[in-house]
Amino acid sequence: MSDLFPALYTAPERPALRFDGRRLTYGRLARAATALAARIAGADRVALWATPTPEAVVGVVAGLLAGVPVVPLNPRTGERELAHIVADSAPSVVLVCPGVPLPPLLGALFTIEVSTGVSDGVSDGVSSEVSDGPAAGRAREHDPLSPALVVYTSGTTGPPKGAVLPRRAIAANLDALAEAWAWTGDDVLVHALPLFHVHGLVLGVLGPLRRGGELRHLGRFSAAGVARELADGGTMLFGVPTMYHRLAEVVDDDPALRRALAGARLLVSGSAALPLRDHRRIKAATGRRVIERYGMTETLITTSVRPDGDARPGSVGPPLSGVGLRLVDDDGTVLDAADGETIGEVQVRGEQLFRGYLNRPDATAAALDGDWFRTGDMAVRYADGSVRIVGRRATDLIKSGGYKIGAGEIENALLNHPGVREAAVTGEPDDDLGERVVAWVVAAEGADRPSARELSDHVADQLAPHKRPRDVRFLPELPRNDMGKVMKRALTAPAP
Ligand code: ATP
Ligand code: MG
Repeated sequence: MSDLFPALYTAPERPALRFDGRRLTYGRLARAATALAARIAGADRVALWATPTPEAVVGVVAGLLAGVPVVPLNPRTGERELAHIVADSAPSVVLVCPGVPLPPLLGALFTIEVSTGVSDGVSDGVSSEVSDGPAAGRAREHDPLSPALVVYTSGTTGPPKGAVLPRRAIAANLDALAEAWAWTGDDVLVHALPLFHVHGLVLGVLGPLRRGGELRHLGRFSAAGVARELADGGTMLFGVPTMYHRLAEVVDDDPALRRALAGARLLVSGSAALPLRDHRRIKAATGRRVIERYGMTETLITTSVRPDGDARPGSVGPPLSGVGLRLVDDDGTVLDAADGETIGEVQVRGEQLFRGYLNRPDATAAALDGDWFRTGDMAVRYADGSVRIVGRRATDLIKSGGYKIGAGEIENALLNHPGVREAAVTGEPDDDLGERVVAWVVAAEGADRPSARELSDHVADQLAPHKRPRDVRFLPELPRNDMGKVMKRALTAPAP
């Protein structure tokens, strides 16, 4: 693995970051991070108030250079959840960005204001002593199994758990993705993801830095920002499905966006399933297909569609190199089937796995079967090794009338209806069926709101009678977390 980021030392002139106009070269990033690494060396753990800024990048790189595990904190976390995460991770220092207000809970801890040594792209500000110091020439070696990051899961299914990610996992995964996507230092990655989950932080920040390429962060997502950065040299776009949905909604009427997306080398979606409707719209407007990859905080990215591979929309592709993947049925039997129909739980293994949940030996043990990690996600596999995620066992697999029904398929069918803007499907206990299919729908603006009966028939006609939603409930919006994931545990039946 040697250095995680060789370009810090070998390519000081190359552009590393551009955040909303603020730029940093690899040389400046190396100097700022090295200076900070010296200040935090010896700390047990540092928390990072992970605003989408160059300072946050300096903070995480400093932690990795110093060998001090970094805990990225979501600045939008509610007080209770933040208190839980801070108590759980017990950071000795909090790294913050100048001028960013902190909640009292964190203000009471020891804080360090991170400096990039660059104000408005003019002055350097870091002393020559630091820039010429010995640590600037080469990174210190650290044990590859030592913890690099503690990243909290998205909290989609319960309180977030701190996944301890070793250095080796990060290096192995970023290198496997580089192979799958032909990702090099010539790539310029564009995204607007938050920096406190693995998608935005490991893939979106550490990914380009490991390759020696450039990251352009938009600060806030906008279709105009995506179009601008892709037109200005961006080669790859990373996003969550809600972002691609917003692009899909406007791309037909926006020739600049259409040209920019058509010209990108790679459009990648992940963190949740991209609805087929958005796949189709983007493909129709730009000729480009969005590539889906699948992963988790605990496992990093385990499968991806290859740019030149399987074009089946809805597939998340075959495993990455170095990843073992198997499907297991409810009795623990490993399934051989590759028929695109037999559903099993995805289990994965490889160097890129986490080392356990912080302070949760029980949850860690429950998640592992030997060296296999039980993802809790259900999937089918095709003959070419590609996988299609059916959904989470806990919330997306509905057992109704002796059938196992995936919520995603019904959500896609509902989204085919012009009167539906958003859809989520859940199962609810039912005396006859065991569980019954329930659809939660946000009606499309402008169109006439379809009746519950019409939507229910629409699903039964397209799929099969047993997949018919027994209840259709209209909502003004779906409950989503910061990654745009639908929080299905918040979708509960109205009181009778
Ligand atoms: P928590 O574990 O706290 O409930 P979470 O599982 O949403 O939250 P993450 O680790 O951020 O936290 O997300 C991983 C999950 O996201 C996967 O288990 C899977 O359910 C879903 N996911 C990720 N990528 C995809 C994809 N391409 N298609 C479908 N689902 C995906
Ligand atoms: Mg999870």
